[in-house]
Formats: sequence, structure tokens, C-alpha cells
Amino acid sequence: MADKFLVAPREHKCIGCNLCTLLNSVYENRKLGIKDSSIVIKGRPGRYKIQIDYGSKIKFPEKIVKICPQNCFEVVQARD
Ligand code: SF4
Repeated sequence: MADKFLVAPREHKCIGCNLCTLLNSVYENRKLGIKDSSIVIKGRPGRYKIQIDYGSKIKFPEKIVKICPQNCFEVVQARD
């Protein structure tokens, strides 16, 4: 089965709520906090940047897609 990757093609819509960061940390690290998340939100209102650490595997990318209120994310399949 091909790997799936989380991407953020609609980064410009991000409102900086950090729900994606928090959910990722809960799923991947079993921690309630954003400090060690594989997703980092930087910037300021109207100009947020979404940084995804591709060095660490995001196990449930579909759940991250669903939780974003601005629909910033998509899941893509890696080609074989
Ligand atoms: S959940 Fe969506 S809107 Fe909220 S910080 Fe993450 S990417 Fe931005």
C-alpha cells in the first residue's frame, strides 16, 4: 500500500487556531500540547505558514484534514 502524505495547498486560508497542531500531538505523541507536534503554525493573522515535518510520519492524515475548520489540508498518495 502506498504511503499517504499530508499537504497544505490552502495555507492562505489558515486562521492560526492550532487545532491541527494539537490533534497531531495527541495522536502521535499522546500529549495534550503543541510543543512536539509534527505540524507547526507560524506567522500572524492573514499570513500564517503551515510547516509539516516530513521526517516524522503522520499516522492519521485524514483526521487532520477533517479537523481543520478552513479546509487547508489534503492527503496525497505517494507514487510507487
Ligand atoms: S486547523 Fe486549519 S486553520 Fe487551524 S491552524 Fe491548523 S491549518 Fe490553520
